Amino acid sequence: MSTQQIDGSMGEGGGQVLRTSLTLSMCLGVPVKITNIRAGRKKPGLLRQHLAALRAAAEICDAEINGDALGSTEVRFVPGALRPGNYEFRIGSAGSSTLLVQTVLPALALLERSSTIIVHGGTHNGMAPSVDFLELALFPLLARMGVQVDSTLHRHGFYPIGGGRWEVTVHPWRQPAPLQLFRRGSWIENRATVTSSQLQGHIAERELARVARKLGWPEKALISSDVASLGPGNIVSLRSRFEHVTEVFEAVGGLGISAERVAGRAIRDARRYLAADYAVGEYLADQLLLPMVIGAGGEFTTGALSSHSRTNMALISGWLGASSIAASEGNPDGAPSSVVSIPSGLALAC
Ligand code: ATP
Repeated sequence: MSTQQIDGSMGEGGGQVLRTSLTLSMCLGVPVKITNIRAGRKKPGLLRQHLAALRAAAEICDAEINGDALGSTEVRFVPGALRPGNYEFRIGSAGSSTLLVQTVLPALALLERSSTIIVHGGTHNGMAPSVDFLELALFPLLARMGVQVDSTLHRHGFYPIGGGRWEVTVHPWRQPAPLQLFRRGSWIENRATVTSSQLQGHIAERELARVARKLGWPEKALISSDVASLGPGNIVSLRSRFEHVTEVFEAVGGLGISAERVAGRAIRDARRYLAADYAVGEYLADQLLLPMVIGAGGEFTTGALSSHSRTNMALISGWLGASSIAASEGNPDGAPSSVVSIPSGLALAC
């Protein structure tokens, strides 16, 4: 079978080019060679998080791989048969467990039996969706597409120590359904959760006070939770639940950044979304593309497309043809908004 050649410097030139290519390679059974990996980033090549995702992908389908080393800028991946099972993967840093799971999840869902994955690494590290984001925003939409995922967070993993432990069970994708997500539907509730480990209580208090003042959310919508993690950590997570979609806006605390600034970042993202009326926020938009392509497609409204979404769309078109995915962008009432449509998807599900 001919090998798909992917230039990892395309578009944003980040880790998503690798991950999307691995997922499509596994699902389609097509070998792939990726060059110039993460050429668009300050430190190009595979970081621990990308290496762990590559090795995880190889393990679930007995792939032959070359170039699986830290810093590698070129990888060849020849997938074998996908195997359901109980897997355990270690990132080896605070790198993202969620991005690893997103790489293998669509492939494991194509199998006749459920699989369980335990990942050790970062679960709330700021540069990627947290486990909460996946549980609240992404997994309910996957369920509507026909993919059931059970998720249990055993221990939070913050940057820089990591040490999180997260377990996910992916069930067989039996009845793929198109995702039609044009409107949010009626508003149900807002909730602000600050999760902290090994930090003084005033940090969460100040963050929640900022949320209350800037967004006007009532006391009962503000929650502070202390968790046991191997190192210190703090994340502000603002959740807006609507009838058809839940959006999550997160910001992670770090040394030298004031509690008010951390809260301010999440508030800015939440405000931008709440002031608009499209259904899907920036991050969720790029994360829906691949499951929709592998499943039964569909359509959703979102804001201006991020460079991350554009890169992912260009990559998907490169693999599957220009008609596999489309976006129309406009400015109704001056607010940028887009409709992304995936005409039918590959309907690979069992
Ligand atoms: P690099 O960009 O360094 O190559 P990477 O592989 O970690 O690294 P990206 O390719 O940028 O990362 O992909 C990051 C993913 O994380 C995207 O899917 C994006 O939607 C998601 N993401 C980033 N920040 C957030 C956030 N605050 N909330 C939800 N999702 C996020």
